[in-house]
Amino acid sequence: MSAAHTVLREVFGYEQFRGPQQAIIDHVVDGGDALVLMPTGGGKSLCYQVPAIVRQRAGLGITIVVSPLIALMHDQVGALHESGVEAAFLNSTLSYDEASDVERRLLRGEITLLYAAPERITTPRFLSQLDSLHERGMLSLFAIDEAHCVSQWGHDFRPEYRALTVLHERYAGVPRMALTATADATTRADIVERLQLQDAGQFVSSFDRPNIRYTIVEKKEVTQQLLRFIEREHSTPQGHDAGVVYCQSRKRVEELAQTLCENGFNALPYHAGLDAAVRQQHQDRFLREEGIIMCATIAFGMGIDKPDVRFVAHVDMPKNIEGYYQETGRAGRDGAAANAWMAYGLQDVVNQRRMIDESPASEEFKQVMVGKLDALLGLAEAIDCRRVRLLSYFGQASTPCGNCDNCLTPPAVWDGTDAARKLLSTIYRVQQASGISFGAGHIMDILRGKTSDKISQFGHQQISTFGIGAEFSEQQLRGVLRQLIAIGALAVDAQAFNTLQLTESSRAVLRGEVPILLRQATASAPASRSKRGA
Ligand code: ADP
Ligand code: ZN
Repeated sequence: MSAAHTVLREVFGYEQFRGPQQAIIDHVVDGGDALVLMPTGGGKSLCYQVPAIVRQRAGLGITIVVSPLIALMHDQVGALHESGVEAAFLNSTLSYDEASDVERRLLRGEITLLYAAPERITTPRFLSQLDSLHERGMLSLFAIDEAHCVSQWGHDFRPEYRALTVLHERYAGVPRMALTATADATTRADIVERLQLQDAGQFVSSFDRPNIRYTIVEKKEVTQQLLRFIEREHSTPQGHDAGVVYCQSRKRVEELAQTLCENGFNALPYHAGLDAAVRQQHQDRFLREEGIIMCATIAFGMGIDKPDVRFVAHVDMPKNIEGYYQETGRAGRDGAAANAWMAYGLQDVVNQRRMIDESPASEEFKQVMVGKLDALLGLAEAIDCRRVRLLSYFGQASTPCGNCDNCLTPPAVWDGTDAARKLLSTIYRVQQASGISFGAGHIMDILRGKTSDKISQFGHQQISTFGIGAEFSEQQLRGVLRQLIAIGALAVDAQAFNTLQLTESSRAVLRGEVPILLRQATASAPASRSKRGA
């Protein structure tokens, strides 16, 4: 039996490695660098814990684990102690004396795994301690957890991670591994470049979470839609399931928590504007009690390991697919059936665009963000399997899953090509006639031949497309507009009252060269046929 296998059995009490663990561990035990992409719950921790122990036993010294999450450090060190492994952490929760004690043990080589926050690692004091270990050949491995934090394209950029370049510059011979549960191609490339992992072995697991059922609905009255969803899918006479409802704003978090409570659900708010003590209390209750629904901003969730979260709902559209995947991934860690439910609308797209446009970031950065938002919108508007789309975003091919809304209830499709051409040509003609651009509502009014003060004021009933789209409902046209924005055939100018502007790609659509296929809007949210706990 290999040394790694012995450690797995004797220290951790597991019989077998899971999925790619063995390959990763063998590679790192042998001193290779590694980039590990594994979905949440896949078993990343063992990938560095086992090599740390094997290499320490072989006299190679200490493993330093970089982790951004204090709570997670505590949990892991506690669990390692229970398994008889010498582990410790250095972070801001320690007193001076406690920290000094850890440092003494570190320098004597009495520790196998040392967890430290990134900002700690790059202090002169800590670096001189690492120097001392390095000179004596006692620095065995660096494990960089949550490695996507190094990338500004990732959804959780932490500037402190940038300074980790010091590791390969200063300790060139010491193997490094970077681990993350979320990274699309752009983020992955960034991690490789920032952490100099060009020669590292890349280990990419399947990102599929087969027990999660994906459902994405168009927003109508989102609070009612959410209540119906929870009642239908997650309530029994005995009580309701635990879940998380993500909202965009703190205000919305508070409102929704209250509404849920008024409707008989056990809901709590969580956002960064709440007192630290209140946040902690709500988090503890969510973890300990049964059937709590946490209404939260994205401030909630990282590092929270609750296996029986039965649903994650988004009442507002997240920024991108990585965020969506990360957040929905908190459902069903125990492997039992779980739901990921999201509602989205044109307003979400407009808001997200505005946030990007108004951010002080560089043009390049904004372009990347826009691309990522479009990809998420593409997922929302998809008429085929959600899982196939999601996995292909992470570079993984798959076949229709049978466990998403589109697979279970294939949406009716309508051909919006004609509507799209009429919309674009209305925008063009109005711009020609008036010399200024208008927003979605006004354009739709013209196309549908409605009369309004604004239309009379600008004389827009003279526009040749006035009323030629009377057969389209406003909802249908909104769908077409979203799609046009998603494919870049239409731009929203946030600097000018969210007016709609034609783009380079508008032309191909105007010429009818780009088919625009859309989900047929249904009167009520499509009922999914899930059986609870199936
Ligand atoms: P991640 O960090 O990737 O989210 P963890 O490292 O926390 O995942 O592992 C998830 C769970 O799977 C943990 O409870 C862990 O003990 C368990 N686990 C990991 N590897 C194995 C294995 N080879 N055999 C059995 N259980 C495992
Ligand atoms: Zn599917």
